[in-house]
Amino acid sequence: MTNVSAVEASFSMSGRAEYEAAVQRLRDASRTYYGAGYSLMDDAAYDRLRLAVLDWEAEHPDETAPDSPTGRVADGAAPAGDVAHTARLLSLDNVFTPEQLTAWGASLRRRLGHEPAGGFTVEPKMDGAAVAARYRDGRLTQIITRGDGTHGEDVSHVIGTVVGLPEQLPVPATFEARGEVLFTQEQFEAANETRAAHGAGVFANPRNGTAGTLRAKDRPYRLAMTFWAYGAVELDGVPFLPAGAGHAETLAAVARAGVRTTADTPAGLHTVATLDEAQEKVDAIAALRASLPFGIDGVVVKADSATEQATAGFGTRFPYWAVAYKLPAVERQTVLQDVFWEVGRTGVLAPTAVLAPVELDGSTVTRATLHNPADILRRDLHIGDTVTVYKAGDIIPRVQAAVVELRPQDAVPVPLPHECPHCGGGIDKSQERWRCAKGTACALAPLIEYAAGRDILDIDGLGRKYVDALIASGDVGDVADLFTLTEEQLTVASG
Ligand SMILES: [Zn+2]
Repeated sequence: MTNVSAVEASFSMSGRAEYEAAVQRLRDASRTYYGAGYSLMDDAAYDRLRLAVLDWEAEHPDETAPDSPTGRVADGAAPAGDVAHTARLLSLDNVFTPEQLTAWGASLRRRLGHEPAGGFTVEPKMDGAAVAARYRDGRLTQIITRGDGTHGEDVSHVIGTVVGLPEQLPVPATFEARGEVLFTQEQFEAANETRAAHGAGVFANPRNGTAGTLRAKDRPYRLAMTFWAYGAVELDGVPFLPAGAGHAETLAAVARAGVRTTADTPAGLHTVATLDEAQEKVDAIAALRASLPFGIDGVVVKADSATEQATAGFGTRFPYWAVAYKLPAVERQTVLQDVFWEVGRTGVLAPTAVLAPVELDGSTVTRATLHNPADILRRDLHIGDTVTVYKAGDIIPRVQAAVVELRPQDAVPVPLPHECPHCGGGIDKSQERWRCAKGTACALAPLIEYAAGRDILDIDGLGRKYVDALIASGDVGDVADLFTLTEEQLTVASG
């Protein structure tokens, strides 16, 4: 199966056989993700397939598979583990549009029997892995994955490597912090450098890296991750939370104990009175997305009041008093078809990835930056690889990594240039960013033209033809020569 076809296919299911095939693909994708730490398809493709399965199940309730992944926490694929959760650790229902958020608000109102009076909280939905971190008398004693919501895996081997989850708190508190562990972008780059240095495959993206790192107990190296709490429960019957604490108050108690919460992120935790105001905060956090130092895949809206949360209650997979407003995909998988090299004005050789077209954050992406040869080698990129590509807002799309497990047999490492792609001369490889050995002289004409342009020197009438003539005559060897040109030199050049 290739990812591109999975993404571009339209999932209208005409019969039971297609439904069952789709359910199987969901299972395969989830199992690979949780079990092997890589993704057979990206989130956008997964969500689309999942929605199509849900649609079919809504229309054919009698034929719905009893073990359909759509009815289970983490789609039933996360390893359950053998540690019982203190209280179920559930996922969240999703909405994708303002209308769906309004509809969620209406369903909450029905469950409460009145307008929600306790207001809403709005916070970023970090794109990592949910864990429960147990503190006893101020010591971090255990970290557990979400698993199937009732049982998780003990991943305490990462204690000491997670920023935001100190091993020792300044107060002797006993409680369980619940939140998301992930690699920030900076930690992700560092992790892949460490992996490359150990001959291990790079992570395709920060979230896959998180899943893999939580499960790997016998690595010869440790990788730093980060945690933010989005909830807490009491542990061992020891009082911790203020009586009747709502969501914002709960997080404040966690923060006072010394553990990081979503309120500490640049996106913050916001308390608002109405769902309209919540939508405004959703939009504000979405607008911050490209500038955040970590990935988010949505924004979480919760009824803040503990009383209203208790009245609204829980379903089998998620609470009725909270919802995740999912943001458009900013990361997709596509195929790296080629790499071409250009010489910039400063003589630097810049590689650009040619990608199979993919829809990303509202535009079709066919090119992405690859930085430099060392970066290509570090990522072990091959032509033909399925790669993860990230783009948010106005930033230049970047290739994050190859999904090594999906590499075709005929894939070849990205060829690095042996000669300057502009002038055919030698290459200076003494730094990470390779340069033409001629330096700025290689691309002198575009450099001079650029310098003469309106934004810099603003020399009227000094176009490319003129520049070429001045270089050919030897009158201009660098930008400084422009200042000492004589009228005669200019006249000769223009003739
Ligand atoms: Zn050159």
